[in-house]
This record gives sequence, structure tokens and C-alpha cells, in this order.
Amino acid sequence: MRISYSALELFERCPYVFKCVVLDKLKLPKTKEAFLGTAVHEALNFLFTKNPLFPTLDEVVNFYNKTWDERSPKIAFKDAYEKETLHANGISMLTRFYKKYPAWNFTTLGLETRFEAPLQDLKTGETHTLSGIIDRVDKIDDDTYEIIDYKTARRMPAQEHADKNLQLAIYHMGVLARWPHLAGKKIKLTLHYLQHSEYLTTARSSDELELTKQKILSMIQAIQDHQKRDDWPAKSSPLCALNPYNKICPMWSYLYAKKENTLSLDDTTAQKTLTEYIALKTATQENTARIKELQVELLGYMRDKKFERLFGEEGYVTRNLREQEIYDLEKARPALEAIQKWEELLIADHKKLEKFLPSLPSQTQKRLRDEALLRKRTTESLLMRRKKIKPEDLE
Ligand code: SF4
Repeated sequence: MRISYSALELFERCPYVFKCVVLDKLKLPKTKEAFLGTAVHEALNFLFTKNPLFPTLDEVVNFYNKTWDERSPKIAFKDAYEKETLHANGISMLTRFYKKYPAWNFTTLGLETRFEAPLQDLKTGETHTLSGIIDRVDKIDDDTYEIIDYKTARRMPAQEHADKNLQLAIYHMGVLARWPHLAGKKIKLTLHYLQHSEYLTTARSSDELELTKQKILSMIQAIQDHQKRDDWPAKSSPLCALNPYNKICPMWSYLYAKKENTLSLDDTTAQKTLTEYIALKTATQENTARIKELQVELLGYMRDKKFERLFGEEGYVTRNLREQEIYDLEKARPALEAIQKWEELLIADHKKLEKFLPSLPSQTQKRLRDEALLRKRTTESLLMRRKKIKPEDLE
């Protein structure tokens, strides 16, 4: 399989959108944020490509303006104010960058560097290809190199984000595949946040790169499993707000069908059932909360007055005390081992293992899936949120 970091990221985010974009090659309109990111990236690329006759700041901004004017008519901005604000935001990112990081101070080895890194799965005998494009690769000195990825996000995450970042680890592997003589050199991995003129730098040891390979192999395995079953569930998350996928997504298609009147939806019965369901669920949730409050009140009263049972017109309640013994399990172990009961106590169950799985090293997760997974069980349930979203709210 040939796969890029962005495809892997898309799969993690939502298998359904992965299938549409990566497998079915559906062309989705660019979001305004992605458009701004591309325009700024291209202007920075222009700045460094002109080495050694670097352009002036005005020339860089003009380049950016040209891209903006040519392509912005295709982008869905909320209004003229939003369009103008985002445009100005791009100019200030470029201006800050130009002044703080003069391009002539860097030795740049590559811009928009394409790579292909082979990835062998020893278990299946398959060789996959990791591909991608790296924003910039610099040489700092004879022993140190730096891989840089520009980010135009509004928020700068914590250092931990860079330390665990899969994209940077893949780029490291890509650089080594493209320039094998850099193996053994110090390779810095940097996320450069253009909104803040700040960066997060990290590195990966060869052991960590090996773990990354295992993680990618298990992601590829998961993709292949979905392919075999032709099963691509939509996984909604706050990232759904990155709009263009919404229209093709089964999570939102009902609202679009209503808005655009494309289907003759006769769902009066379904609507009635839904209204009743939400009313009952809400009442149950409210009752549960109120029951807890009443319990606290009644128990307090009974404790104070030393009544173990309280009688009323509708019935009576009894104060029920249940003592739970909490043991030091390590100290309990020898006594239980002596009668061969320790193992029984530790018996694992499916629920426990499922909860535990994400915290295990990716190699162990893969091993469990390869060697112990019997089957996948699908259960259906309804998750309810009391939030009114109407077809008119869709963009
Ligand atoms: S809108 Fe959300 S759930 Fe639907 S395809 Fe996009 S990411 Fe997946």
C-alpha cells in the first residue's frame, strides 16, 4: 500500500472521510483555513526558492496577494469581513516571519521535498510505501539537520504534541530514505507556528522510529481490514466542523436532504418517535439527578434523627449500609497463591481488555490483534444530545 501521513491522519479522524477522499478520490472544496495555509506556505516557498537573490518583503506579499486574488473566489467565506481578516492575517504571518527569520541566514537543502520511504511488514511479507512532502529541510552544520513543518493553526499546542507527533517521525524516515548518508547525523524535527512566531522542536531516536514503524504498520493493517469488509464508519468529532465533508457524510445527510429537498422524506412517524424518545430520555436523566439529591436529603435527615426506617403515605425507605473491604492486593497475593486462586482473581474479561488496549504499546496492540482477536462484535445504540440543529444552520 502507498500511503501518506495526511491519509493516515484522515483515517484516524474518520474512516468514512478517508474512504471518500483517499480511496474514491473525491475532490472536496478547500476550507478557508486550509486555503490560507496553502497561500502562506506557497509564499514562504517563493521566498526561499529565490536563494541567493532573496525577494524583498513587498515581493513576498505581492506573491501572496496574487495567489489570494486568483484562488479566493472559489472559497466559501462567511462574508467580506471574514475574507479580509483572513487575508490580512496571512500578510502579518509572512511579515513576522520575514523579519524574525531572515531567509539568507539558513542553508536550505530542500523545499517542498517529496519523499518515498519503503516500509516492510515482516509478518505479511508486504512492502508498503510512505510518501509525503516536507515543507523545508535545513542543514545547520555538518552534523545537524532540521526538518521544518509550517503550521498556520491559531493555537500552539504543548511540547508533548511535538514529542509524540507522527507526522514528524514519518518525515524523519522520509529524509533518511531520500538521503541515506544522513543516518547517524543529528536530525531536529520542528513544527513552526507562524501565527505565534514560535516553534516546537523535538527529535526521534532509532528505537522510537522503530516503534513508529510498528504503529504505522498496525494502522495500515486496520485500513486493510476495513477494505476487506468494505466497512467505513463515519466517526463524528469536533473536526467535523472542518466543513466540506459534511455534505457527503451519513452523519449530516439527513439535514442536507431536508435543506435541499432532494429526497421526498416522509418521516412523520420517525419524527414523532424521535420526539417521544428525547422527551423520555430527558425525563429519565432529570429524574436520576433529582433522585440522587433526594437520597442525600433523606439519608441526612435519618442519620440526624437516628431513624433507620422512614414511613410515608406512599411507602417507606430503609437506610441500607454496605461495608466494602479494601485489600492491599500485593499482600493478599501469597495467601491466594497458596490455594491456587490468584490466577482466578486476575481473570481478564473483554471489557477490561478493550479499555486497557489504547494504553498498551502499539507493538503489543498489533500482536494482540494478530494473534488473539477472534471476531469483531457490532452493537447498535443511540447517543442523545439535546441540541437543536436545523437545515437552515448548514452552510
Ligand atoms: S463530517 Fe465528521 S463523521 Fe462525517 S465524514 Fe466528515 S469527519 Fe467523518
